[in-house]
Amino acid sequence: MERNFGKKRFGNYPREEHEVTCSDCGEKAKVPFKPSPGRKVYCRACWEKHRDAGDL
Ligand SMILES: [Zn+2]
Repeated sequence: MERNFGKKRFGNYPREEHEVTCSDCGEKAKVPFKPSPGRKVYCRACWEKHRDAGDL
């Protein structure tokens, strides 16, 4: 879920990356947001797969 920071584009912000372990395939992945404890995180491929399946 993205929030609207006024008129600034999100892409202008410095990227903050966090290393996580994908909850699906177990691979290490980097995500541009801070993972919440207890919440599943996915690598990009799995994230897209789950998003497309509609269960995110
Ligand atoms: Zn994965």
